Amino acid sequence: MTEERMPFQAEVARLLEIVTHALYSDKDVFLRELISNASDACDRLRYEALTQPELTGEDSTFTIRVTTDPKARTLVVSDNGLGMTRDELIENLGTIARSGTAAFLERLKESPTASLTQIGQFGVGFYAAFMVAQMVEVRSRKAGSDESWCWRSDGRGAFAVEEDSKPHRGTEVTLYLKQGLDEFLEDDRLRSIITRYSDHIALPILLNGEETPANRAAALWLRPKADITPEQYTEFYHHVAHAFDDPALTVHWRAEGKLEYAGLLFVPGTKPFDLFDPKRQHGVKLYVKRVFITDHAEGLVPAWLRFVRGVVDSEDLPLNVSREMLQNNPVVNRLRQGLTRRVLDELASFAEKNPAAYAPIWDNFGAVLKEGLYEDAPFRESLLKVARFRTTHDDRLVSLAEVAARKLEGQEAIYYINGDDPAMLSRSPHLEGFRAQGVEVLLLTDAVDDFWPGAVETYEGLPLRSVTRAEKDLGPLGDKGATTSDSAKGKDSKKDSADSQTSTPDEPPVTPEVAALLAFMRGTLKEAIHDVRVSTQLTESPVCLKAAHEGLDIHLERFLKKHHQNLAVPSPRLLEINPNNTLIQALAAEAAKAATAKPETEAACPPALVDSVWLLLEQARILEGEVVPDPFALSARLNAVLARGLK
Ligand code: ADP
Repeated sequence: MTEERMPFQAEVARLLEIVTHALYSDKDVFLRELISNASDACDRLRYEALTQPELTGEDSTFTIRVTTDPKARTLVVSDNGLGMTRDELIENLGTIARSGTAAFLERLKESPTASLTQIGQFGVGFYAAFMVAQMVEVRSRKAGSDESWCWRSDGRGAFAVEEDSKPHRGTEVTLYLKQGLDEFLEDDRLRSIITRYSDHIALPILLNGEETPANRAAALWLRPKADITPEQYTEFYHHVAHAFDDPALTVHWRAEGKLEYAGLLFVPGTKPFDLFDPKRQHGVKLYVKRVFITDHAEGLVPAWLRFVRGVVDSEDLPLNVSREMLQNNPVVNRLRQGLTRRVLDELASFAEKNPAAYAPIWDNFGAVLKEGLYEDAPFRESLLKVARFRTTHDDRLVSLAEVAARKLEGQEAIYYINGDDPAMLSRSPHLEGFRAQGVEVLLLTDAVDDFWPGAVETYEGLPLRSVTRAEKDLGPLGDKGATTSDSAKGKDSKKDSADSQTSTPDEPPVTPEVAALLAFMRGTLKEAIHDVRVSTQLTESPVCLKAAHEGLDIHLERFLKKHHQNLAVPSPRLLEINPNNTLIQALAAEAAKAATAKPETEAACPPALVDSVWLLLEQARILEGEVVPDPFALSARLNAVLARGLK
């Protein structure tokens, strides 16, 4: 039968270009990747054979062989694992299924320092062979099949597939080494690579027919912690996670008692590009008594720990457990509780002991962990312990405990502000009053930050409160700290403004001029705004926009509108004015004059004042990041005001 040539998927071609042309200092990793794949293939067949013993038959001892032929200058890695069909060869070695790959590779193109760590996320695994080989041949025979196939490529755009005559099941990868790489034909060199990178592989790796394995061939997670070096943990992580980066945190423990299991979990050192892809699955492998069961046991890991990688090996599940039986399985549920608690405990103590090293973990995965704050009430308290925040008071990440500990006297809430960009956020007018009084505000910029504070509600008895939600109290420190009390003229002025119909008993005292301005604004802006009132928090800006007390936080409402277009969210907005701002004072004087003019005349409704009032609202909307409903009207008013200024 003749061979059939096929092009690589564009993403693979691009990946191969990066892998083959970049000069990686550490070419040795190709062997680790091939051995890792061989080990996975054996694990998978061992699982299949639990229910279909005929798949392994006589040949039930799994081994990985590394063999060289110095004359032919070839290096062969073979296994007696599951093998691949013709379609699987084409699919597995010619495409990358993960969504977002193309976009990510496109971005990598622009960064000349693209590292294996970055491209390692795609399961570059097998393709690493092309770092050292000018030609790669993969012969494979699927367990239970009598067909075998050979896949062949020089890594340049295309591969070929043809029928083969492999006598035994499994996969045999032959590398035709590039010139100058004869070192990979030397036993000692290969042995040292295997000890360094593949010692933890639980199957024997036999080098050139030797009977003693080149590795220790025992499950790493069952060895005592004291016997394992950090390098061995890292290499095991590379294997289980199919990753090239280093783990940021390693959690290794054994549970005994009611539930018996071993866990070896890792928090990766880098953030995967598809962390928020809804199709992304968790990465903890389930073993039962050393036998691999599945990569994706449903319910083993909460969604908000989907970045964790590693192995859980249970003694309580039956060996013949099918993947279907795992759904809603009480043992799996308890394993989840156990590993979740363990990971959170370790994160908490690591954050405590080593805040500088914890910061990148939080920056990479904090947004995912915070999903747990609203999804998973039982773990809320532990999650609040590991959560870190940027605030108006600190450039480093701080915990809620720190924020609570340094609250001011009289401060009855922990305040936060939501937005998209931390730099813009810290300049928001909403923060002026808080800053003036020295009250700390959390700067929240992740999408999930719109949701969890509503679910969590309080921290150590302190309510979590958005600064964009209008409250009845007088600013962050209540009465004691009201910023307007100094400038307002005491109780009398309040009486004067009593005729401004909607003023509430909580509203701070205002001058007659400001009362006139409030009335004028209400009359002019009408339905565009729920109400206008005097701010207790602004110290510099003339105006700001707030969500009415019962309404949603402004940022959350905008998020909901964007993502659920037909969600009819009521949007009562309060426009707050700063009576201490000179512009507001000038406008208030104008408004007071207009109030004494004959009704229905132009003097009672001066166009300059009307334009100014609308422009105040529009600028508040713009600062809040809202869409201006009528940019043409805004432009006309702005021009009119400018023209008047030039007269
Ligand atoms: P990854 O291992 O990260 O998924 P690879 O590019 O290394 O990515 O391999 C792609 C796929 O090819 C694997 O997921 C596996 O299904 C298949 N594969 C690779 N090597 C073998 C092997 N020795 N035996 C069986 N299947 C293999």
